[in-house]
Amino acid sequence: AASQSKRYTITLLPGDGIGPEIISVAKNVLNLTASLEGIDLRFQEMPMGGAALDLTGVPLPEETLLAAKQSDAVLLGAIGGYKWDANEKHLKPETGLLQLREGLKVFANLRPATVLPQLVDASTLKKEVAEGVDIMVVRELTGGIYFGKPRGFSKNENGEEIGFNTEVYAGYEVDRIARVAFETARKRQGRLCSVDKANVLEASMFWRKRVVAVSSEYPDVELSHMYVDNAAMQLVRYPKQFDTIVTNNIFGDILSDEASMITGSIGMLPSASLGESGPGVFEPIHGSAPDIAGQDKANPLATVLSAAMLLRYGLGEENAAKRIEAAVLATLDRGFRTGDIYSSGTKLVGCKEMGEEVLKSVDSQV
Ligand code: ATP
Ligand code: MG
Repeated sequence: AASQSKRYTITLLPGDGIGPEIISVAKNVLNLTASLEGIDLRFQEMPMGGAALDLTGVPLPEETLLAAKQSDAVLLGAIGGYKWDANEKHLKPETGLLQLREGLKVFANLRPATVLPQLVDASTLKKEVAEGVDIMVVRELTGGIYFGKPRGFSKNENGEEIGFNTEVYAGYEVDRIARVAFETARKRQGRLCSVDKANVLEASMFWRKRVVAVSSEYPDVELSHMYVDNAAMQLVRYPKQFDTIVTNNIFGDILSDEASMITGSIGMLPSASLGESGPGVFEPIHGSAPDIAGQDKANPLATVLSAAMLLRYGLGEENAAKRIEAAVLATLDRGFRTGDIYSSGTKLVGCKEMGEEVLKSVDSQV
């Protein structure tokens, strides 16, 4: 019997600046990969960010959110630009991004920090420290001190002005991010490090207790714990000790930026934001780069690697994800570089040409 090919709908949100250029490359790579892997991908392109503001007056039109909700995964380019910088808060392109994350309830943010052998010189660390680093930071995205109440400004008993926020985690919030992290570690090297400040903060003591309880469901994953101050130090001292890291919203914000600098190149870094079920949002960690928009200079590889994460974490299509990742490595091996990762002796190409070279590499993967 002929095997039924799997059908998925992908929402494309190109956005602003270099967004349309990099999404166009990633779409072509997804199309070719899908046809080689026997996957039936449909694309629906929707306005979002500044582009949507100009078109409809809001950064995330209802039709865009609805289309995203009804699809299997969302691939986002980048949003924002000088043109809208002076807008009021609710009319800023960036507000659309928060509304999208809220609307899709994506509470788990996955950010890999991988030092590719071809780009090891771009790392801020010494070669022998950077070589072979392959870390996944799993950051809780919708809870913790960024959302906790009470918050605000007030006066203390001496009449002195104060500002305050509250670190709060409910059990279900820790359990679900822990499960995403254990599942992620299981697909990697099977080691999970939970980062907290349980020596000082009650919210962290609670976090650790719940993570330990969830770990009984994952006997095949090795769990360790580290205080955040030590983790920040260990990340630059000996990053190879880490496989998967799970941590709360604020520690994850800081540690994932620290980890990304180890790899050195913003144009290479993808991300995934996942919810309980429902579609995830996959996007490069860089912004809309208005300084190079429309000049065919953008590095499309962070978006191509986000498309690989979409296949792996969004659709469960591991083979297709691996094919794209191998194609990116092969393209770098063949010497092609955009300006942001260029070094002497390599071949400087633009966004489009880099895309065409990746397609050739996808085609030649077995
Ligand atoms: P945001 O605030 O939206 O996160 P940002 O304004 O801080 O972003 P980016 O838009 O990421 O910053 O740009 C920072 C610098 O990196 C710019 O000089 C930009 O040209 C460059 N850059 C960002 N992404 C890429 C890319 N994919 N390829 C090449 N250069 C890039
Ligand atoms: Mg910006």
